[in-house]
Amino acid sequence: MSDLKAIDKQYVANTYARFPVEIVSGQGSLVYDEAGKEYIDLGSGIGVTAFGIADPVWRAAVTEQLGKVQHMSNLYYTEPCAKLAQMLCQRTGMKKVFFSNSGAEANECAIKAARKYAAEKKGPEHYTILTLENSFHGRTLTTLAATGQEHYHELFQPLTPGFVSVPAGDLEALKAAALKHKAAGVLIECVQGEGGVNTLEKDYVQAVAAFCAAEDILLLVDEVQTGNGRSGALYAYMRYGITPDVVSTAKGLGGGLPLGATLLGEKAEFVLGAGDHGSTFGGNPVCCAGALSILERLDEDFLAQVRRKGELVRQALEGAEGVEAVTGLGLMIGVKPAKKSAGDVVRALIGRGVLCLTAKDKIRLLPALNIPEELLLKAAALIKEELA
Ligand SMILES: *Cc1c(COP(=O)(O)O)cnc(C)c1O
Repeated sequence: MSDLKAIDKQYVANTYARFPVEIVSGQGSLVYDEAGKEYIDLGSGIGVTAFGIADPVWRAAVTEQLGKVQHMSNLYYTEPCAKLAQMLCQRTGMKKVFFSNSGAEANECAIKAARKYAAEKKGPEHYTILTLENSFHGRTLTTLAATGQEHYHELFQPLTPGFVSVPAGDLEALKAAALKHKAAGVLIECVQGEGGVNTLEKDYVQAVAAFCAAEDILLLVDEVQTGNGRSGALYAYMRYGITPDVVSTAKGLGGGLPLGATLLGEKAEFVLGAGDHGSTFGGNPVCCAGALSILERLDEDFLAQVRRKGELVRQALEGAEGVEAVTGLGLMIGVKPAKKSAGDVVRALIGRGVLCLTAKDKIRLLPALNIPEELLLKAAALIKEELA
């Protein structure tokens, strides 16, 4: 371990403040360090390993495809890519899918689609994308510009122009900015993940959707973190009763392999033509085969269990000593400590055998969607003890 830490420190770029833990194996929601210590994993690789570590169904799907074709360029057809696009469209009502490799890329495609749509329909001066303060949309220079958190922008100027962020929940500010800047699109997360697990109000989201529809501004919903069952619905927008024009997703979609998807609705279906966008790895057959094995299992019964497990955690922690607030939807949960900093709590929980994340001043829980109830309750009890 100390050797590995030293090598990592010397050779891996300093972009991550790692916890002093090396994970060597796991099964489901339990992971083990090099000394054999067991941890309950409530982070699932930041909401990526939707069915836990080494999930046998996902592993079988991925392994089978690995033995057939591990990669083929997008110049040819492959079955997992077409089947996954079909499944995504059939389950959402969206019309077409562009595949990429990450959340940032899924958002880049959404932004390109909105800009081209507006340029063709209204003119090239309609390029601005409105985003919300405290949002997070990725680390590329364009998705950083979309991210409404100034501290990420410092020293990386100039970012891609054409992004304006407005306070979440303030409909009038959004409308005014949309008209002033000739907005091409509005990009939102229904639950802001990195920004602190802040759940947007239903009335607000519905009003934003109605405004976008009336002004023919594309509504882009970033479901990179909230998507693929995390919120207790297949996509979080479904809990809001809205129909976005474009949905971007990644994280849990591939179950642990890199896969991003941008779902294009009726208005945006034909906006990107041959040569307008592309990705060498996008739609990789192994990643898509894994994703199919995930999506196939996210049926209504399973999603009801996700909602129920979320409620169990809420019941265990809401109003408990040292808990100021519990936020989020489904198994995307924020817990605001009343007495300690979120970072200190997360570090102390490592000692207790629980791996959690932070988001601003909250502890963030993104457990595997199939985490057994007793394991989840055991972890919630340890969190409660630590917060008291
Ligand atoms: C993680 C995240 C992204 C960026 O995803 P990457 O795969 O890291 O590029 C974008 N949007 C949201 C809401 C996210 O949570």
